[in-house]
Amino acid sequence: MAELSPVLKQATPVLAARGEGVYLYDEQDRRYLDFTAGIGVTSTGHCHPRVVEAAQRQVGTLIHGQYTTVMHRPLLRLTERLGEVLPTGLDRLFYVNSGSEAVEAAVRLARQATGRQNIVAFQGGFHGRTMGAGALTTSGVKVRAGIGPMMPGVVFTPFPEAYRHRTSEAEAVRSALAEFDQLLVTVSSPRDTAAIIIEPVLGEGGYLPAPPAFLAGLRERADRHAILLIVDEVQTGVGRTGRFWGHDHAGIRPDILITAKGLASGFPLSAIAAPEELMGQAWPGSQGGTYGGNAVAAAAALATLDVVRDENLVENAAEQGARLQEGLRKVAAEHPVIGDVRGLGLMVGNEFSTPDGTPDTATATRAHQAAAERGLLLLTCGPHGNVVRMIPPLIVTAEQVDDAVGLWAEAVRDAVN
Ligand code: PMP
Repeated sequence: MAELSPVLKQATPVLAARGEGVYLYDEQDRRYLDFTAGIGVTSTGHCHPRVVEAAQRQVGTLIHGQYTTVMHRPLLRLTERLGEVLPTGLDRLFYVNSGSEAVEAAVRLARQATGRQNIVAFQGGFHGRTMGAGALTTSGVKVRAGIGPMMPGVVFTPFPEAYRHRTSEAEAVRSALAEFDQLLVTVSSPRDTAAIIIEPVLGEGGYLPAPPAFLAGLRERADRHAILLIVDEVQTGVGRTGRFWGHDHAGIRPDILITAKGLASGFPLSAIAAPEELMGQAWPGSQGGTYGGNAVAAAAALATLDVVRDENLVENAAEQGARLQEGLRKVAAEHPVIGDVRGLGLMVGNEFSTPDGTPDTATATRAHQAAAERGLLLLTCGPHGNVVRMIPPLIVTAEQVDDAVGLWAEAVRDAVN
């Protein structure tokens, strides 16, 4: 009898039978508060009626309108709609299926447009598991170990990490920008540097928001050296951080923006956006794929954007995110093992460490598991797996946030006792 490969690591023992809103149900109909949202994907909740209706209608009309063979209306409509929410000037788009593919597409585009090879990525960053995106990824060695050699032309520089270095945010920014400047004069000359790729909140690497001054510093350096700034909004986009885009918190403009996950509420879809003059430098036919911009996924994305607008989900993410952080800080105040609570909007991490600052993965793991046993599904992240992250659907209510904080308090108590 065939079985699933152990190469897939499962965070919880749950066998999901159905999902509704912020809840998942197993085959015994036990209910779980889902603060994973399928790794930040089910932005409108599980099976939002408007997304379901749009997808069902599209399934009966045209499932696969292959976009390099024929065009289809859902993708044209989606492009128009995204134009309303994308940063000014990033008005040329194309689509693939996943975050990793979008990252690779952005790298291809940046290399073609600049004629340069190197991509600067950040230590602790996550951009995917394919060979190209994986080459940019250092959120943990498990994504790279035994897999190399990776794609060449990638150089790494530190991300500002105030908590880890026990320093102020301003000092962390100053030091990380100084390292970046040093990189350009030692490892990767601007003449060889095509792009910088950054997540507005370091996601898999530990839920560390990029300080606005850091993003502004990178923007200024990118302008000075004609290096492109790729903002990876795969996890942070479409309202997740309490602004429509994660980089909105810093008021900067990316040259290339990529987004996926929350965009289509669970259908595989990712988008790459850039200004016309930049996209115009890409070689026609050098991008795309068989399933990219699938008609059902595009219809689901349109419905998702409608729901995000009509239900004020960006504002809700900001409001409930603040409530969640406040509740989690109270739990942390009672348990010194939680050394840091941080995040932006509904992307919040709880870092477990011993008093001397050593990562406490064992307690984090126990708290994560105890939460699942109590009916609260969470994920861990960070190179040491010692950050328990909460990333609920954007429709989460104040009551559900309070329920989650209550269950979390019990789970942490279980873990420390
Ligand atoms: N970029 C970021 C910021 C991500 O968080 C992820 C997925 N966690 C990816 C890229 C890769 O996306 P996918 O798993 O869809 O390939």
